[in-house]
Amino acid sequence: MSTSSCPQCSLENIYQDGALWICADCGHEWVPGEAAASALVVRDSNGNVLVAGDTVTVIKDLKVKGSSIPLKQGTVIRNIRLVEDDAEHIEGNSEKIKGLVLKTCFLRKA
Ligand SMILES: [Zn+2]
Repeated sequence: MSTSSCPQCSLENIYQDGALWICADCGHEWVPGEAAASALVVRDSNGNVLVAGDTVTVIKDLKVKGSSIPLKQGTVIRNIRLVEDDAEHIEGNSEKIKGLVLKTCFLRKA
């Protein structure tokens, strides 16, 4: 796999930070060579496959660790990221809360 372009958006505005490569355009972070080796499949509550960059909807009210604001049913999480070696969680930001880690069983692909 070439490291001259972002595997997510294919733009070439990327830079290296330690072992990580980071895309300045979409914010995608990856380790060269690992994406191809990973067979991890992440699925939502309906069994649909989720990939980085997907938009998902929260299907029930959720408490958020470290936040007094609950995550409401119906909240849209755009541009999700997958958690390495963890098919049960994704990362993403809602409009109000940044840096969420969410269980995929409470999400539905939008
Ligand atoms: Zn990118």
